[in-house]
Amino acid sequence: KTNADMSRIQLLSPRLANQIAAGEVVERPASVIKELLENSLDAGAKRIDIDVEQAGVKLLRVRDDGSGIEQDDLPLALSRHATSKIRDLDDLERVATLGFRGEALASVSSVSRLTLTSCPEGGDQAWQVETEGRDMAPNIRPAAHPQGTTVEVRDLFFNTPARRKFLRTEKTEFAHLEEVVKRLALSRFDVGFNLRHNGRPVFSLPPARTEQEARRRVATVCGPAFVEQSRFIDHERSGLRLWGWVGLPTFSRSQADLQYFFVNGRMIRDKLVVHAVRQAYRDVLFNGRHPTFVLFMELDPAVVDVNVHPTKHEVRFRDGRMVHDFLFSTLYRALADQRPGDQAAGED
Ligand code: ADP
Ligand code: MG
Repeated sequence: KTNADMSRIQLLSPRLANQIAAGEVVERPASVIKELLENSLDAGAKRIDIDVEQAGVKLLRVRDDGSGIEQDDLPLALSRHATSKIRDLDDLERVATLGFRGEALASVSSVSRLTLTSCPEGGDQAWQVETEGRDMAPNIRPAAHPQGTTVEVRDLFFNTPARRKFLRTEKTEFAHLEEVVKRLALSRFDVGFNLRHNGRPVFSLPPARTEQEARRRVATVCGPAFVEQSRFIDHERSGLRLWGWVGLPTFSRSQADLQYFFVNGRMIRDKLVVHAVRQAYRDVLFNGRHPTFVLFMELDPAVVDVNVHPTKHEVRFRDGRMVHDFLFSTLYRALADQRPGDQAAGED
């Protein structure tokens, strides 16, 4: 192209626009699985089966028993800025679903060979659409599928070699992917998750309804040693609730790799939280050791903004200081008997 051509403004093709958007949300197989699982959870799925081949580079398949998608909506599900989750600015203010940008499937389908099969609630026929990284004109055909949705993503980044080159080894990519599944499995005890890799079961988590069953899931996800060497807490104060498993100092780690913190059901990683936890553990852990925890904080959704960024896990609390004090004092007290000669710690 000549310089004169390059200075003229043109609309991007939908495919190229999607591929550019994909650059922001689809980094690796783990980011795809996150989007697919969030969609299944948003659809009210109670059981999700995940099948992965070659760490998801060759195949990622997520099958759910959620509400499904109407035939007419199938092509829309794959278009950019198309969502069933918000309609206006008011909805955006109080969005309760995990997704709402209407970008994920469009992005993923622009960098893979994607098949979407779905049977809506009460529908008597399932339908399937397929895209092959080409421009978005999917054709629809009848298919066999019980109520719910299956998304199959094959050959991720087959048409974007630069991205493909950035993928790490199968082992590393699978570790990232498994971590995403674990986080979501911890966020929804009521949903069953089954994960298979290269035809072998990795874990199978039945829905957990009692505290015992929840404990069993945590043991599967975090290892039995963690639940044995942790303390279950459940504390509530002025509209804030913190519950979950706090690892004892005897089960600290050399890396911060067993730390799960959820705010209103969403996994977050936030400076304020990290700081409060570190302070609470400060005098019971050796230097360089990291605490372990699986914690759930619940508070009025109106005083926390969890939609700060689609992929980063930050939140914004309206009253950060109060949240910090609450976390610190609750955890400090939970660890009181680990601190010899300081039994009255953390009175409030
Ligand atoms: P978003 O989740 O932000 O709305 P997506 O691109 O992830 O955007 O999905 C687009 C739409 O496709 C969703 O709004 C939803 O209506 C539909 N959809 C996607 N996955 C599923 C699923 N597993 N079950 C039911 N509907 C789904
Ligand atoms: Mg989504």
